[in-house]
Amino acid sequence: MSEPDSDTLDPTSLRTPIVAVLGHVDHGKTSLLDKIRGSAVIEGEAGAITQHIGATAVPLDIISSIAGDLVDPEDFDLPGLLFIDTPGHHSFTTLRSRGGALADIAILVVDVNDGFQPQTLEALDILKRSQTPFIVAANKIDTVPGWDPNEDTPINATYDDQTDRVSSRLDESLYEIIGNLSDEGFSADLYWRVQNFQRNVGVVPVSAMTGEGVPDLLAVMMGLSQRYMKEEMEIDVAGPGVGTVLEVKEEKGFGTTIDTVLYDGTIRADDTLVVGGMNDPIVTEVRALLQPRPLAEIRTESRFEKVDEVGAAAGIKVAAPELADAMAGAPVRVVRDRDLEAVITEVRAELADIAVDTEEQG
Ligand code: GDP
Repeated sequence: MSEPDSDTLDPTSLRTPIVAVLGHVDHGKTSLLDKIRGSAVIEGEAGAITQHIGATAVPLDIISSIAGDLVDPEDFDLPGLLFIDTPGHHSFTTLRSRGGALADIAILVVDVNDGFQPQTLEALDILKRSQTPFIVAANKIDTVPGWDPNEDTPINATYDDQTDRVSSRLDESLYEIIGNLSDEGFSADLYWRVQNFQRNVGVVPVSAMTGEGVPDLLAVMMGLSQRYMKEEMEIDVAGPGVGTVLEVKEEKGFGTTIDTVLYDGTIRADDTLVVGGMNDPIVTEVRALLQPRPLAEIRTESRFEKVDEVGAAAGIKVAAPELADAMAGAPVRVVRDRDLEAVITEVRAELADIAVDTEEQG
């Protein structure tokens, strides 16, 4: 964990897809993220998953050890998945990149018993408008009456272990969700029946509580990314960084900082940045790049450790002067060897796009 950025600086120049979690309140978004993080910690050697600012990176080898036979690392060259830690619609709609959604892919969580609810529909609408590929996690399968839990197993193994009555109850709920998706214009099916994930939405039965189906969920996310998004993941790893402000925060000893999700290139500790501000773009020099420190070390030192460089995709806290006017959702661009005025113009254009969208939504 001493070099939190090392796994993201991938020489193949394919970056980690950025994953967002959406869904109705209490349907289990936070629990699912916690479960994935927890499983990754258990499976990995120390340091294998890295806690970023506002995000968690789960590398391919850890996904493979959680997913077992469902993921053969040989079949993939994308480095893993980067989950944005704040689930929910607000962060999804605020976090944008170059006119699209910051997240490359999404998980829509639906409680199997509760089914579609207002915020499920709202999430679908957001996903539709931003054209973000997604899968549905049909969560809380362990609450189906009579369910016999099998911790952390793939769905087919635990399914086979249920009585006919229990599995048909689950089937009924799943088909209701599939029907609801169809009503909203999405052709959907249970994920193992889906041939083309670009045309059909895969539904993955899971339990954020017992971990059942989590291997499948990770396998499907990884497979979908690899198959359909590889080209979008090709980045100039050493190029000037491009990202989005997740949050503007006062941090003791550092002043105003911006928690940033980087989706292209690198940020270095000596870079000049242009950041979207409430009025005009802000031009500033990086004072420090900060990553969370491993838990064990927090007692004695600052919560953060300084790094010299970080590469996409990653979450990073940037300390720099003049950030008081920075805004969540605004673009961040590294200037490096480009013309400063040109970068300011780019940032100004992106800000104008955001303003138009905000008006349309408001
Ligand atoms: P969020 O509002 O979508 O983030 O939902 P939470 O993750 O906070 O979950 C809401 C409640 O549902 C909490 O009490 C969780 O413990 C519970 N919960 C979430 N997932 C599961 C699950 O798979 N099975 C069961 N039995 N409970 C769950």
